[in-house]
Amino acid sequence: MISPEEKPDDRMDQTMRPTHLNEIIGQDQVRENLSILIDAAKQRNESLDHVLFYGPPGLGKTTLSHVLANEMGVNIRITSGPAIEKQGDLAAILTNLRAGDILFIDEIHRLGRAIEEILYPGMEDFALDIVIGKGPSARSIRLKLPRFTVIGATTRLALVTAPLRARFGAIYRLDYYDFPAMQKIVTRAANLFGIPFELDGIDEVARRARGTPRVALRLLRRVRDYTQVRSDGTISRKAAIDALELLNVDSLGLDDIDRRVLDTVITKYNGGPVGLSTIAASISEEPDTIMDVVEPYLLQLGFLDRTPQGRMATIKAYEHLGIEYPNSVQQPKLL
Ligand code: ADP
Repeated sequence: MISPEEKPDDRMDQTMRPTHLNEIIGQDQVRENLSILIDAAKQRNESLDHVLFYGPPGLGKTTLSHVLANEMGVNIRITSGPAIEKQGDLAAILTNLRAGDILFIDEIHRLGRAIEEILYPGMEDFALDIVIGKGPSARSIRLKLPRFTVIGATTRLALVTAPLRARFGAIYRLDYYDFPAMQKIVTRAANLFGIPFELDGIDEVARRARGTPRVALRLLRRVRDYTQVRSDGTISRKAAIDALELLNVDSLGLDDIDRRVLDTVITKYNGGPVGLSTIAASISEEPDTIMDVVEPYLLQLGFLDRTPQGRMATIKAYEHLGIEYPNSVQQPKLL
């Protein structure tokens, strides 16, 4: 349910993506900044400055990039850090761009060093440096590119190299959505799906979606299945709770993997401190899932503390799992 990757089922969501800035719910500050960026570029008749979005998966980085392309009336080319394997791959993409186009690079922190080096002159001077020949006779020629915009997206800003980061004119952080925004997102989706609902059924889905639109849409699809098969097709509070309990999504939106992480810290490591990679190994989960999805949400709930020695479970985590908090647990030294 909380997996960071887009699953085949999620592709349906793409048809529900907001297409214009005024349809974007929440993220008020980012939205306002983007609106200024767009208006300024339009007034000057220029291409957009390069933009970097960062934050946990499923919060709308790709959606906002499409919105920017729509608002500017330009094409968007989509690729990702791991998909560009060779310098030639990026050179081919860059030489095919037209003036004003947006190049969206998802997971930009996973671009190889050699590839980043091709991107630098592209972003800075709109030029592509090609080396011809080898050894002492090698020479470099410079091709001019049209003015284009790179939009980068990453879940790990810290892994984006400093020289790459420096080439973005605007860097925006996307944060978890608050409850009123989640209510609006779920209501909008239920209307688009054409599912009958009661408001407290929507609230239940919104509350358990961990502030993440992608998770909200996934939960909504499963609740819709449940009500269609087991109930009268309307999303009522009871139907939503029953469906979500059956999926092991609890009242705070924690699912199995979150609970296993907390349980490991508490029972195997006496409440911590313990490193994230140790936790991932002991529950056989991808460290990326733990780092990008599980940890940020548990930190936000105040269930985990970050200390220089590793992660520690807080008293709130013990209470939520119904485990007694031992007096012997040392108080964490916060970073
Ligand atoms: P990311 O690129 O950050 O992983 P996406 O842009 O793919 O996230 O968003 C995931 C899904 O959530 C999209 O399919 C979109 O329908 C929905 N979504 C994201 N942000 C919003 C928003 N602000 N309002 C409504 N729906 C949203």
